[in-house]
Amino acid sequence: MFTLYLVVPCYNEEAVLPETAKRLLDILRELTAAGHISDDSRILFVNDGSKDRTWELISTLHSHDKRFAGLSLSRNRGHQNALLAGLMLAKDHADAAISLDADLQDDVGAIERFVAKYEEGCEVVYGVRSSRETDTGFKRNTARGFYRLMSALGVEIVYDHADYRLLSRRALEALSQYGERNLFLRGIAPQLGFRTGTVEYERQVRFAGESKYPLKKMIAFAFEGITSFSVKPLRFALLLGAVAFLVSIAILIYGLIRWLCGMTVTGWTSLLFSIWALGGLQLLMLGVVGEYVGKTYLEAKRRPRYIVSETLLE
Ligand code: UDP
Ligand code: MG
Repeated sequence: MFTLYLVVPCYNEEAVLPETAKRLLDILRELTAAGHISDDSRILFVNDGSKDRTWELISTLHSHDKRFAGLSLSRNRGHQNALLAGLMLAKDHADAAISLDADLQDDVGAIERFVAKYEEGCEVVYGVRSSRETDTGFKRNTARGFYRLMSALGVEIVYDHADYRLLSRRALEALSQYGERNLFLRGIAPQLGFRTGTVEYERQVRFAGESKYPLKKMIAFAFEGITSFSVKPLRFALLLGAVAFLVSIAILIYGLIRWLCGMTVTGWTSLLFSIWALGGLQLLMLGVVGEYVGKTYLEAKRRPRYIVSETLLE
């Protein structure tokens, strides 16, 4: 028997929260009755600075049933930071924590299989989607492209695994040693080590409410993942710079030969082209370097990743 925490980040989730709470409580009850988990197990909702009634709902749930716990961030810090805040609280109370979305897209029916894996001795268990049928074609393709790009860039990442995962206390403690501000949990998880397992599940459609991840946030998230874990873009910049330099030398030799032969080059097109091409390249690469410099700057400041305003846990 062990203590399990279900960590659920919530941002403006008043539409789904009552149903999510009900279903998770049912599962917690079943697992307790079956003797898998202790009475100290909790459902921990992390309010990520919601603007709607999310926190009031969490407080009410907590006052009715102590198995509901709450953590409220002082403002919206994004899914990854909210999740980390919850996991770090769970680390001090639980033997294992499972993180899942509030919108019931991560099939809660899979929780018992996570528990089984943990009981077999796995300390990191990944929830992996068995299909992407519930996604729009667009989201499916962008996601595929994302995973391909990530592995091409040498980032270790589990295919079709989002943030539905179980972490043991030891894994959570390891996670707490990662001090980075630019958080990309699914990149960190494979680095933790320990015995791992996977659980396949069918991803559901959002139960209610709207996605908090519009395209703009998705792109930002992908970019975050790449620049936080891979230095390949920097090497690519170097390579591209070297190639451009070689090309310019070739052009120089070609121009000298033409000049020696007495044929003056009159075309300004090529001249203009190279000015623009080189200028463009330089700017582009400067941007890539700037991205990393910016990250270093943000990391160097070591600002808190989240600030807790309230905790409901007994
Ligand atoms: N979320 C959060 N903070 C945010 C955005 C989202 O805590 O700034 C939570 C949200 O409440 C949900 C989870 O992160 O539990 C995933 O968000 P969502 O379902 O909107 O993303 P999608 O499934 O569409 O990618
Ligand atoms: Mg969702």
